[in-house]
Amino acid sequence: MESILETNQLEKKYGRFQAIHDLTMHIPKGAIYGLIGKNGAGKTTLIRILCGLQKPTAGTYQIYGISNQNPKMIEVRKRIGAIIESPSLCLDMTAEDNLKEQYKIIGLPNYEHLDEILKLVRLEDTGKKTAKHFSFGMKQRLGLAIALVGTPDILILDEPINGLDPEGIIEMRELILKLNQEKGITFLISSHYLDELSKVATCYGFMNQHRIVKEITKEELEQDFRKRTEIEVSNLKECVKYLEEMHFSYKVISDEKVDLYEEVNVSDLVLALSKRNCKVNHFQEKGESLENYYLNLMGGADNE
Ligand code: ATP
Repeated sequence: MESILETNQLEKKYGRFQAIHDLTMHIPKGAIYGLIGKNGAGKTTLIRILCGLQKPTAGTYQIYGISNQNPKMIEVRKRIGAIIESPSLCLDMTAEDNLKEQYKIIGLPNYEHLDEILKLVRLEDTGKKTAKHFSFGMKQRLGLAIALVGTPDILILDEPINGLDPEGIIEMRELILKLNQEKGITFLISSHYLDELSKVATCYGFMNQHRIVKEITKEELEQDFRKRTEIEVSNLKECVKYLEEMHFSYKVISDEKVDLYEEVNVSDLVLALSKRNCKVNHFQEKGESLENYYLNLMGGADNE
C-alpha cells in the first residue's frame, strides 16, 4: 500500500544520548497507525520531528513523497494537524475564538469550515464560555478542532485519551473513526492504552530501544491472534505425521512445540499421539490480546 509518511534510518541525539536510532517506519494512506512503546522509547521525539518542531540529527523522512530536506516540506506540513502532549489552547478565549486564532496563525484568508469544525467536535453550543471553564474532555475536543483548522489530511495525536473519562474516551474514538472514514484523514496516534488503540488502529508500529522493531497491519495481527493450542511433545516427527494425516492446520515452533489451529479434543489427541509413541508433555490454549502481543515482542526485543 502507498505510504504517505515514511522515515528512513531517522536518528535524534540529545548530546550523546540517542533518543531515536535507526528508525524506519511507513504509514499507509488512510491508515490509523498506532504507535506503541514504553515510556522514553522516543515516540514524542519522533512526533516532534515529523511536525517540524525538531530536526533529526541523521536520516530522512518523506511526507507525500517530499523529503524533509526539500524546501517544499514547509507547504506539505500544512497538510498535517497535530496535538502533541497537551493541546495548546488560549484558556481565556471561547472555542470559536480559539479556532479563529488558529486560522490567523496558519494564515488562512477566511473562517471557512469553522462552524463545521465546531459542530464536528460538539462544541457548537458553548457560546461565550471560555476554555478555562471547559471540562477536560471539552478541552481535548477543542484541541482536536484546532488541529483540524486548514483541513489537514494527516492528524498526529500524541496520547489523545490521557486523562479522559470513559465517556470522553468513547467520544474521542468515535471522532477519530468518523474523521478517518468520512474525511479520509490518515492518523498517527501514540498511546499506552492498547485495548483502546486496538479499537481504532488499522496498523501498528512497535517501538523499542528508540527504533521501530515491528510494523504490522491489523489483519496480520489478527492472524497471529488466531486461537491456537500450543502442544509440547516428546516426538515431533510422529506428531507432525499425525497432524498431516488428520489434515490439521499447524505450525512447528521448535523441536518440541507445535501450534495447532484447530478445535481439538485434547484427550483424543493425547491418546492418538501416545499410540504413536509420542507423549504430550504440555499443552496450553492461547488467544492473544494486543497487550500480550506487545509484551511478547518487547520481551523478545529486549533480549536481542
Ligand atoms: P513517554 O511515553 O513517556 O511520553 P516517549 O516515548 O514519548 O515517552 P520521548 O519523550 O520522545 O519518549 O523521550 C525519549 C528520550 O529522550 C527520553 O529518555 C527523554 O528523557 C529524552 N529526551 C527527550 N527530550 C529531550 C531533550 N530535550 N533533551 C534531552 N533528552 C531528551
